[in-house]
Amino acid sequence: KNPYAYDYQLLIKHLFNAPIAYNPKQEIVYRFDQRFSYETFKKRVHQLAHMLSTMGIKAGDTVAVMDYDSHRYLECYFAVPMIGAVLHTINIRLSPEQILYTINHAEDDLILAHSDFLPILEQIKGRLEVDSFVLLQDEAMALKTSLHVKGEYETLLAQQPSVFAFPDLNENTRATTFYTTGTTGLPKGVYFTHRQLVLHTLGVLSTLGTAPHQGNFHQNDVYMPITPMFHVHAWGLPYVATMLGVKQVYPGRYIPDLLLELIAKENVTFSHCVPTIMHMLFNSPKINEVDLRGWKVIIGGAALPKAMCQEALQRGIDMFTGYGMSETCPILSLAQLTPEMLELSNEEQSDIRIKTGRSMGLVEMEIVDEQMQPLPHDGKSTGEIVVRSPWLTQGYFKDQKNSELLWAGGYLHTGDVAYMDEKGYVKITDRVKDIIKVGGEWVSSLELEDIIHQHPSVKEVAVIGVEDEKWGERPLALVVCDNLKPISEKELLSHAKEFIKKGIMAREGMLLKILFVSSIDKTSVGKIDKKSLRQKYTL
Ligand code: ADP
Repeated sequence: KNPYAYDYQLLIKHLFNAPIAYNPKQEIVYRFDQRFSYETFKKRVHQLAHMLSTMGIKAGDTVAVMDYDSHRYLECYFAVPMIGAVLHTINIRLSPEQILYTINHAEDDLILAHSDFLPILEQIKGRLEVDSFVLLQDEAMALKTSLHVKGEYETLLAQQPSVFAFPDLNENTRATTFYTTGTTGLPKGVYFTHRQLVLHTLGVLSTLGTAPHQGNFHQNDVYMPITPMFHVHAWGLPYVATMLGVKQVYPGRYIPDLLLELIAKENVTFSHCVPTIMHMLFNSPKINEVDLRGWKVIIGGAALPKAMCQEALQRGIDMFTGYGMSETCPILSLAQLTPEMLELSNEEQSDIRIKTGRSMGLVEMEIVDEQMQPLPHDGKSTGEIVVRSPWLTQGYFKDQKNSELLWAGGYLHTGDVAYMDEKGYVKITDRVKDIIKVGGEWVSSLELEDIIHQHPSVKEVAVIGVEDEKWGERPLALVVCDNLKPISEKELLSHAKEFIKKGIMAREGMLLKILFVSSIDKTSVGKIDKKSLRQKYTL
């Protein structure tokens, strides 16, 4: 080993030096009223580090945040790990009981909380193991609270010196932690190191940043997240955007009209979103007043419905799928198109854009059978997706048993069922626990949903398996109809059967039943909550 050589560790502090030096006047915008330059952002990150240190926060401590998407959150994404502490991004949409559980389980030492969340914290105060808070406010005003608040963020920040000597940490230092949404029992904690976040940033950049034809993210883009910063680092894109040095727009709460206004006003060109929120944007009357041509949007968190993709393409939006999960930092694959594919009609392109995509560089993805044997990439052999990559969580925090299950056989088990074609495009057909087994055959709930969704009268749909004496299980579609375009059960069934006959789906899909409902249960991050639906509905 050369004793003179510097052992360069992959640290979050290295991500923002170049873009700030290169373009110090670049903007970071918060909602409609505040803008900061990258230069100021850097100063604020240094000040935040001082603020945390004066409060006694040191390497190895955990600092939690409860906020909407904001410039403040971005500052925490950097300052907290850069001093060697762990950033816990609290899921503000969990129930107060679950929030309490995650705060105590993560062993938080300090919570930076937006004033909107003080009532929740007051409610659980008696059982909280942390008693140290910093207040985040959009408008300065006096607040009464029984919590031990050390001060207000802006006031505290302004008192701090503007240069902090960030330590040279080991790259394997834990940087972030957060909790899965708890659709399957108590929320589980996952965690990521500096090295993992840096490599994820570079991995995403090497895929999105180099795509020459479609779905690229480059230095002239304007970035706005529409998946929350508390969930899987907003897909790691704030780190990517910062490293690229692009203009960033943080929208606060997700209010469809305001999001559309911000997109127009700030000329947003790159976002990521879950289908539920995109659905709300498409249903807002404002959508027709905004020119969305050229807007690039990755849809993930749940399958992108074909009807949504087609509507997006008609509006000139470059919409495509991204896939990942809390356990995977998150991004594993993207459904980008080759130049030949871009020659296809919107309808044919949609079939590719809604696939789960091809794995990114440094992601090794396989579809395996129950004995962990890899299945052929033939576009039909279906099994579980397992992965290896440098940015996967090493386990669940303080949960040996589930960590072992997650990593059984040396691969991370996604719990997603899919097939892969010869070009490497993966298509998820279900989650292991949502699979519908009809007379021994697997029927894909996601494919059935997609088929039903393509009917113009259908606003929302969820397909679950319900017990059936003869078949073991059969698919039940819960459908929310558009009141303006009524349809009978019989008409919708014959629409679905037409597609099933043509498609590759098991014929058992024909045993579909339909039930019209007024709404469909969602989880805290807006996904269809099939566990709750299965408890509610029977045939
Ligand atoms: P939770 O597990 O609590 O729902 P995650 O955000 O970690 O929270 O969800 C990850 C899961 O979401 C994946 O395992 C997969 O089932 C689903 N998912 C994510 N992206 C896609 C996608 N592009 N297509 C289909 N399913 C997806």
